[in-house]
Amino acid sequence: MTASPVSVLGLGMMGSALAAALLKAGHPVTVWNRSPAKTGPLVAQGALPAATPGDAVAASPLVVVCLVTNDAVQEVLGTLGDAVAGRTLVNLTNGTPAQARELSAWATGHRARYVDGGIMAVPQMIAGPHAYVFYSGDDQAYATHRATLAAFGGTTWTGTDPGRAALHDLALLTGMYGMVMGVMQAFALVRTEGISAEQFSELLVPWIGAMLGGAPEWGRAIDTGRHLTDVSSIAVNQAAFPNFLAAFREQGVSPELFEPFQAILDRAITEGHAADGLSRLAGLLTVER
Ligand code: NDP
Repeated sequence: MTASPVSVLGLGMMGSALAAALLKAGHPVTVWNRSPAKTGPLVAQGALPAATPGDAVAASPLVVVCLVTNDAVQEVLGTLGDAVAGRTLVNLTNGTPAQARELSAWATGHRARYVDGGIMAVPQMIAGPHAYVFYSGDDQAYATHRATLAAFGGTTWTGTDPGRAALHDLALLTGMYGMVMGVMQAFALVRTEGISAEQFSELLVPWIGAMLGGAPEWGRAIDTGRHLTDVSSIAVNQAAFPNFLAAFREQGVSPELFEPFQAILDRAITEGHAADGLSRLAGLLTVER
């Protein structure tokens, strides 16, 4: 059986990796990029260049979109109008759940099917064993094209609400950015005494790994609302935290990433959660929308 044609809109670092993976999997691939020069390497691998997004969309029943931001996606899709009718759009551009829902409604209004996605990989990992993509939205379109999408890596379905994939994507990246903030602050701190950051990472990696082992327990506490702890209370952490901010200042490291953490620990105490574990903070972060 011949592999079905796919069009890719956007040949940045990620879009190029996605198009290359589809070519490698044997699909006829049509590519479009705002700056046409980026089509060159893909064309050399067998892709067909499209002069306009409309030409690309006309070429395949499945259109993968991977642009820098949701604004760029809106701009490009906005030029297409009803040309998307009957097509499946799989948008792998980073965005918010609300943006995904809006695009889904736009696609439905133009008689297209919409699947949103969140890529859990860097371009070099695409098509490798550790890459996977969250998907959500039109489940029939997803079922039809899942085998094709598997060219990128694992496929993880998160539900028919189009915003679900973005929610999972952003939540995992949120955990990652929290880790990046802590690691950068730790490196900045040890560097003030001339300690090699690379050497210190040998202590940091197992420490963070061990601490992260507590995540399922925090999750259980959050799900059940039972936050009382005999391990490490908010009171203990709140009492110690001024030492961190003081040490940063003494050592010449900016406390700007960590001051908000002091603020929420203080609020937890004020609101009567001194004896609870840190899992209580997730609830305190919930605000009206
Ligand atoms: P790049 O900066 O390499 O590429 C951006 C792409 O968007 C280019 O094709 C660019 O076209 C296009 N673009 C920007 N503005 C417009 C516009 N107004 N109209 C049309 N096209 C536009 O980014 P990546 O490829 O790395 O990232 C693409 C998406 O993938 C992002 O949402 C990113 O968050 C996500 N992602 C990226 C990962 C990564 O590690 N790189 C990992 C996971 C997700 P042009 O070439 O003409 O500038």
